[in-house]
Amino acid sequence: MAFSFGPFIGFWAAFEAAQRMGVMTISGGGQSTEQRLQSIFQREATVLVCTPTYALRLADAARLQGLDMRRSAIRITIHAGEPGASIPETRKRIEEAFGARTFDHVGMTEMGAYGFECEHQSGLHINEDEFIVEMIDPNTLAPVEDGQKGELVLTNLGRVGMPLIRYRTGDLGTISHASCACGRGWARLLGGVLGRADDMITIRGINVFPSAVENIVQRHPEIVEFAIEVYRRRQMHELHLKVEIAGTANGIIERLTQEFSNDLRIRASIEQVPDGSLPRFELKSRRLRFVE
Ligand SMILES: [Zn+2]
Repeated sequence: MAFSFGPFIGFWAAFEAAQRMGVMTISGGGQSTEQRLQSIFQREATVLVCTPTYALRLADAARLQGLDMRRSAIRITIHAGEPGASIPETRKRIEEAFGARTFDHVGMTEMGAYGFECEHQSGLHINEDEFIVEMIDPNTLAPVEDGQKGELVLTNLGRVGMPLIRYRTGDLGTISHASCACGRGWARLLGGVLGRADDMITIRGINVFPSAVENIVQRHPEIVEFAIEVYRRRQMHELHLKVEIAGTANGIIERLTQEFSNDLRIRASIEQVPDGSLPRFELKSRRLRFVE
């Protein structure tokens, strides 16, 4: 459990659940990244629970120490707090770094943990024993059909102290009620949470989610860290991407520029910044910044 054991609620439910399952749970509270790495190897941890951002940071710190996480006992990584584990390129990067299978888990402080991936990994199951699920169009509030993008609206049934009725989660996704190969009939968010209604940015009339930017950046394992800056020029928003690259840039900036243009239809300015100059995150990353 590689998190701070502070008031961030994200992983306490996982910790508690694992203990109730009778699973040996190893605390990473109050430890540095180096101590956590040591603990993973010494205690032969088989499952890693942390944010996707922190999993990549652990892998990066291991690399700098000459440790190979693929030689650790870890076979599964479980992530919450950010959509990363459902972003294909981020998932791939974590799986390659750890030689493990990566699972997404989703929830929110006000609602509770509402979704998880099963072993078939065909979307995030919503725990319909505990939540009533609706999908709406965030603009018209009309219900949307299976297969169409909408905002998830939930009612929690089992939460003591904080019941919420038809709560607009702000999580955007595409729902399916088709039954899953695992046998569960619970609804699934296909491809996970595709974005947050409140973090969409509009670049010259094109709607862009930070997760789409991340999916491009994470294709390049040489990129160690990145930050997205949105600034205004002549009444229009522009996107500036800062990247830290391990070793030489080797045409990465040009490739990224091309990918932004091909995949997102936007022109982004991209800048290589010195190693270690961008902030590192342990819990939720804050890589998007609006610059005046
Ligand atoms: Zn399933």
